[in-house]
Amino acid sequence: MCLWGVLIVYLPAMWATQKITHSFSGSMPVFFLWFALLLWAMAYSATARCPRCKNYFHMHGMMLLYLRKCLHCQLPINADKASR
Ligand SMILES: [Zn+2]
Repeated sequence: MCLWGVLIVYLPAMWATQKITHSFSGSMPVFFLWFALLLWAMAYSATARCPRCKNYFHMHGMMLLYLRKCLHCQLPINADKASR
């Protein structure tokens, strides 16, 4: 969810900075800021751990997969919300 939010924010943010600065070099700091945010979101989501099997939720070996369930024990990603 967080990762998709960052990706979606990118387009209007870049468009707005192009409008304001009228140059590509002016939008570069914004681009780097967005890129740092994207890296953070990827690192954060990649290291999220499954509450049941304690493995990385989206990591299986060297693969990073964004499914709606745990790659190790098939626990649904919204299991904690559904149980409340
Ligand atoms: Zn699991």
